[in-house]
Amino acid sequence: MNCCNEKPIIELYSGEKLCKSHFIEYFENKVLKTIRQFDLIDKKENLGVALSGGKDSLTVLYILNKLSKQNPKIKINAIAIDEGIQNYRDKTLEKAKDFCHKNNLELHIFSYKEEFGLKLDGMLKILNVKPCTICGIFRRYLLNKKSKDLKLTKLATGHNLDDECQSILMNQLKNNIQASARLGPKVGLVHDEKFVQRIKPLYLCTEKEVTTYAFVNGLLDEFNECPNVPQSFRAQVRDVLNDLENKFPGTKYSIVNSFLQTLPLLKQQFKDEVIKVCIKCSESSANDVCNACIYLEKLRKSIEVI
Ligand code: SF4
Ligand code: ZN
Repeated sequence: MNCCNEKPIIELYSGEKLCKSHFIEYFENKVLKTIRQFDLIDKKENLGVALSGGKDSLTVLYILNKLSKQNPKIKINAIAIDEGIQNYRDKTLEKAKDFCHKNNLELHIFSYKEEFGLKLDGMLKILNVKPCTICGIFRRYLLNKKSKDLKLTKLATGHNLDDECQSILMNQLKNNIQASARLGPKVGLVHDEKFVQRIKPLYLCTEKEVTTYAFVNGLLDEFNECPNVPQSFRAQVRDVLNDLENKFPGTKYSIVNSFLQTLPLLKQQFKDEVIKVCIKCSESSANDVCNACIYLEKLRKSIEVI
């Protein structure tokens, strides 16, 4: 079923085919509805947007920037983390800088090299660890720390429905339900000043929709994928889900929608989660020493041995 006489550019899982202008309207309405439904953004915010320069983060920044123009009490700050991944992050960061420059947005860039003394590429030569494990720990650490330094009220990320679906399934497969309790459009279990609230305005948008939106708005001209992706568990789960979605359209929506029905119960069950302070860096931690400090110590010892 076509939306109008214009040429369709996308077919939704419902079978509906939308032209460019109807798709843009559909997509932006969905993001605004998500923001309202889950109470993601207040009338006044000093909002951070985690920007990698990929399609998801550029899309969320593009839409929130539009929103802030209609509401001057919402200030937007872009934050990028340069992990130090050759031939990948250097390219996407150029896109991020270019976008912020053209849209007159402030961009704060923090690098692993400056903050931890080594690029991710260098860390992986020293430690025998899965790239995404250490990369994710350091990125979350820096984003939270720097968001507090910048006095951000919330931090928006580009996570979409496919990402959430993968996380839900990964946690099930690893029997880590407490991690699932931290998921959802508003991340986390407890409100704590040690954490800057992370929000996911693209929560109900599929990867296909985000890619299409980014493409028609000139936010995406080529696909860049981190060279470490094939080694990740997430990539395996992504492929399984894509296969299921092809065979049974609507699978991803079903997983996320049913998860949303159980999420309040999960959050209630784990509401007493205790957040400690790392004895080394004073950042939030599940244990006495945070994961970032544990890996930094391992790196330091390995360098000493070398
Ligand atoms: Fe880091 Fe893994 Fe993402 Fe690459 S795919 S940027 S290694 S978390
Ligand atoms: Zn620490």
